[in-house]
Amino acid sequence: MTAITADSLGRAAIRLPAAVFWPAVLLAAAWGAMLYSTRIPGAIGAILPYLPYGLGLVGAIIGWRFNRSRLVFSMGMLVVGHWLLLGPASKIRPGTAAEIGFMMYAFLFPIGFVALSLLQERGLLSRPGLLRALLLGGVSGIAVAVVMAHLWLGSDAAASLHGWVKLVLSLQLLPQSYLPDTAVPTLALVAFGAAALYFVLRLVALGNPPLESGALGALVAVALALHFADSGPTAPLFFSTAATTLLIAAIQDGYRLAFHDELTGLPGRRALMHETMKLGPRYAIAMLDVDHFKKFNDTYGHDVGDQVLRMVASRMEGVGGGGKPFRYGGEEFTVVFSGKSSEEAVQHLDALRRNIKESGFIIRAKGRKKKSAANRSKSGPKNNKKVTVTISIGVAERSETNGSPDAVIRAADQALYRAKKDGRNRVSV
Ligand code: GH3
Ligand code: MG
Ligand code: MG
Repeated sequence: MTAITADSLGRAAIRLPAAVFWPAVLLAAAWGAMLYSTRIPGAIGAILPYLPYGLGLVGAIIGWRFNRSRLVFSMGMLVVGHWLLLGPASKIRPGTAAEIGFMMYAFLFPIGFVALSLLQERGLLSRPGLLRALLLGGVSGIAVAVVMAHLWLGSDAAASLHGWVKLVLSLQLLPQSYLPDTAVPTLALVAFGAAALYFVLRLVALGNPPLESGALGALVAVALALHFADSGPTAPLFFSTAATTLLIAAIQDGYRLAFHDELTGLPGRRALMHETMKLGPRYAIAMLDVDHFKKFNDTYGHDVGDQVLRMVASRMEGVGGGGKPFRYGGEEFTVVFSGKSSEEAVQHLDALRRNIKESGFIIRAKGRKKKSAANRSKSGPKNNKKVTVTISIGVAERSETNGSPDAVIRAADQALYRAKKDGRNRVSV
């Protein structure tokens, strides 16, 4: 995982609105549809109760085909919730089995959803995947058992079981006046609130991966489905929203995997090729290469080398002049300046070169990586070593002789070679 710095947090916060764009649009659309639900055409109204099942099935198949167990289990959780709330809303009358199911689901969903995001993706039919299925199945099993027990027990025992579940989940943590007016039990509200906070923090800390913003959107949608459970088509509407949000997030994540470099988070070679196809008649392309990078690997190990690449990438994201950074491959990077000449690009590139040199790189002393407090206090900052990272840059622009992006990249590569030959840590045109 990328190290979290004030800098990376700042950038993640800036990107947050873009990351939650789709979930927000879908939620707003569902909200609008809810307000005008009386005008939903009969045909759509008739299929609405089946929509979450359909979307859940599509999501589960996609998740299964692409080995995304998190998607499969999330869809499973949505479908269970939808099944629970489906049918006449009056099912959730106080004292009924449906009410127990509703309360338990409301409490367990946010917890399960957070658990799914915490567990590493290991595929569906692997041992961890099957264990996860077992765990989720077990928890659902307990919930179903309680509901069934309620149905089958004599009325006295059922009432007492019901009373207990309700007592525990509706625990009054705050005075009633502080709580929203909702049938969702208090502890479930707390679980939803904590889960939402968890996903927001995770979004920022991980730099807004689509799966986390999708999870946040789905969480909000399910909370709304539960809150409005007794008002007509609203619950299926919001369960469908949750499922769609997760599907879009999975598609976005697939796109990110294809076009972004895993190590640095920068767009990769494929994205660069797409970018060059969009260029107009005027542009400059820069090639960057870390100086003596092999030495970092040889001296401090491959992992430290990887951290250096992440540091360089994060500085590149701040390059001025509208330059778009890419990881070309290995320790080589590219910056594309659309609508700029080499001369205009050079000042921004030189600022980037200085910025990387001045930020330096802190080699953490051994033992620091383990996050225990004991280790941390034993190895103070004096054991850490600051080293300087420099880069060489070659830049070229589109011209008569270099008419295509490929030719410009080749010319930039030659300029980079000159920068290296002239002593490194410089920009050559
Ligand atoms: P120069 O100043 O001439 O560029 O010297 P250099 O040592 O950087 O030269 P060279 O291009 O030969 O070295 C690149 C090294 O980068 C070789 C390879 O082991 C290493 N490398 C490539 N990709 C990665 C990566 O993803 N992670 C790490 N840690 N090392 C990488
Ligand atoms: Mg190289
Ligand atoms: Mg190099």
